[in-house]
Amino acid sequence: MIYKRSSALFAEAEKVIPGGVNSPVRAFKGVGGTPVFVKEAKGAYLYDEDGNRLIDYINSWGPMILGHAYEPVVNAVVEKAKKGTSFGMPTEIETKIAELAVDMVPNIDKIRFVNSGTEACMSAVRLARGYTGKDKIIKFAGCYHGHSDSFLIQAGSGASTFGTPNSPGVTQGTAKDTLLADYNHINSVETLINANKNEIACVIIEPVAGNMGCIPPKKEFLSALKRLCDTNKILLVFDEVMTGFRLAKGGTQELYGIDADIVCFGKVIGGGLPVGAFAARNEIMNHLAPLGPVYQAGTLSGNPLAMAAGLAMLTALNTDAAVFDRLAKKTEYLHKGMAKVLSDHDIVHTINRVGSMISVHFDEGEVYDFTSAAKGNNGTFKKFFHGMLKEGVYIAPSAFETWFLTDALTYEDLDFTINAVNKVAKNI
Ligand SMILES: *Cc1c(COP(=O)(O)O)cnc(C)c1O
Repeated sequence: MIYKRSSALFAEAEKVIPGGVNSPVRAFKGVGGTPVFVKEAKGAYLYDEDGNRLIDYINSWGPMILGHAYEPVVNAVVEKAKKGTSFGMPTEIETKIAELAVDMVPNIDKIRFVNSGTEACMSAVRLARGYTGKDKIIKFAGCYHGHSDSFLIQAGSGASTFGTPNSPGVTQGTAKDTLLADYNHINSVETLINANKNEIACVIIEPVAGNMGCIPPKKEFLSALKRLCDTNKILLVFDEVMTGFRLAKGGTQELYGIDADIVCFGKVIGGGLPVGAFAARNEIMNHLAPLGPVYQAGTLSGNPLAMAAGLAMLTALNTDAAVFDRLAKKTEYLHKGMAKVLSDHDIVHTINRVGSMISVHFDEGEVYDFTSAAKGNNGTFKKFFHGMLKEGVYIAPSAFETWFLTDALTYEDLDFTINAVNKVAKNI
């Protein structure tokens, strides 16, 4: 495949945009080479600026669960746009999508719309702090909750010590209020809670982790977490920006039967437009301005185009009862096909999968937390990524990212992909 035009466009972009991209993971830093510039996309396929067709396993990092340029979403946006694109005043469609979301997701009474997953998580934590009157939060190593200051914290030498900022620009003052636990290790949470009695407002977690590859919660981990939170009057915040409306209508809460106190959304809920949201029961949501004292706002929040896209997407997912099952079956088929081919070529690997989220780790043994995820062989991943790209299959340009399947994928596409893995595996 030829990437002449993509390379030229990237060189132009680098002159006026830092690193040539508006979000770092797009820059291919983890795998080397220059990013592919997209011209257009339809269904399961991307078409790049050089005329190559790629089967897409990123799908805008999740939102395009029914495929690119999905007609009901496109039509809804086009029709709305003709009637004005923003008012800064209430519109009926905001209530319509809120009603549908509250209906689809268990355990929530009210939902507030924002413009990104970052905003949703940031606001959820403020609400948790305002509601409980406590300052500290617990997050897990390897979980991503957007780029707001409180979340850009990584492990120090011990999980019980205060976090240190992950990025310059995050102050020590902010970092000291974020405590770091280990995913799937309930004891690490217990230790932090005991060392910070009555100081912790919330525990925020990706209930199925997707930002260190796909890592499912171990059996009983989430229920134990829920019990610990309840006992200590700590709010449990499920960051379902990735998993919401993807793993089930009601996300992870439905899949595992566990009620969170606050739930964050993004990605699928916007149907490919910039949307995030957070939701909870009345008791908590009524603390938000203008009903309560916790402030949160947005000029473009509930934007009519974004709401139209989101409503069309959620409506489609709500009316097609079989969609999540169909997606899980396709993902299982891909999993089995890839596992066989990689094993045939003696390539050490572990594949994790939940619903339509899947990732391939090039290491042996169970991958269940950040430490085990970080052990993967990045050299092998780079070869795998570039090999797949050459075969016309686009996976995330980082070993720490989940692949997201779209229902637009056919079994022929999946066979094409497995066959590509077979060709690539020969040369690893
Ligand atoms: C993508 C993501 C976010 C951030 O959402 P943005 O829309 O990129 O700000 C937060 N949490 C999780 C789990 C995500 O996957």
